[in-house]
Amino acid sequence: MILIITGAPGAGKGTIAQIIEEDIHTTHISTGDMLRDHIHKKDSLGLKVKELISKGILISDEIIEEMVHERLSENDVKEKGALLDGFPRTLDQAKDLIKFTAVDGIIEVFLEDETIINRLSLRRVCMDCGASFHLETKKPKVDGVCDVCSHKLVQREDDKPEVIKDRLNTYHNTTAPIIDFFKEKNVAFLQLRGDLDIVAQREFIVNQIKKIKK
Ligand code: AMP
Repeated sequence: MILIITGAPGAGKGTIAQIIEEDIHTTHISTGDMLRDHIHKKDSLGLKVKELISKGILISDEIIEEMVHERLSENDVKEKGALLDGFPRTLDQAKDLIKFTAVDGIIEVFLEDETIINRLSLRRVCMDCGASFHLETKKPKVDGVCDVCSHKLVQREDDKPEVIKDRLNTYHNTTAPIIDFFKEKNVAFLQLRGDLDIVAQREFIVNQIKKIKK
């Protein structure tokens, strides 16, 4: 099963993606995480995209499509299917994806922009393991230190307020139209709020997603 999870940055895709990965046993593919990995490794792709990502600017369709094609060809995807997180982000990427593989469902995680700006500007992430914290609602046990691996927590450059507004505009203008694109292709569609109580709603979310499979 190939699923897409989409939504504005900071709407809560990551948490729902984690549930799907754990309970549906699929491969979670986040293009943002893949790109940040390249930056971390300082390889040629990482050097090419670093500046654009810090400004919240989209990477070219060509680079992203090549990266995703390679990843989708790996064995774990063939065995377990995939949950695409952060891809497709443009109509051209969506058109490219359906040429490459069938898509079973698209999940939209939504939240009001104001709430997103609050969430992202107070988000802190571990540069080493990627764990994510929030200075009000999910504080680390020790200030500035990751609970999981004890490395330093930082604010992502693209979580700074001026960049967040640009990223939201890009989402509404460039990415959101992919939802209608897939609906028109009769791909199953599921809409979830990004501030659901995850513990209480976990079963509901998983059941909704299992319905897509049928
Ligand atoms: P994310 O972690 O999904 O918010 O992605 C972080 C950044 O990576 C985005 O702001 C873009 O600069 C870049 N990026 C991730 N996925 C894509 C994509 N599908 N197309 C273009 N740029 C992307």
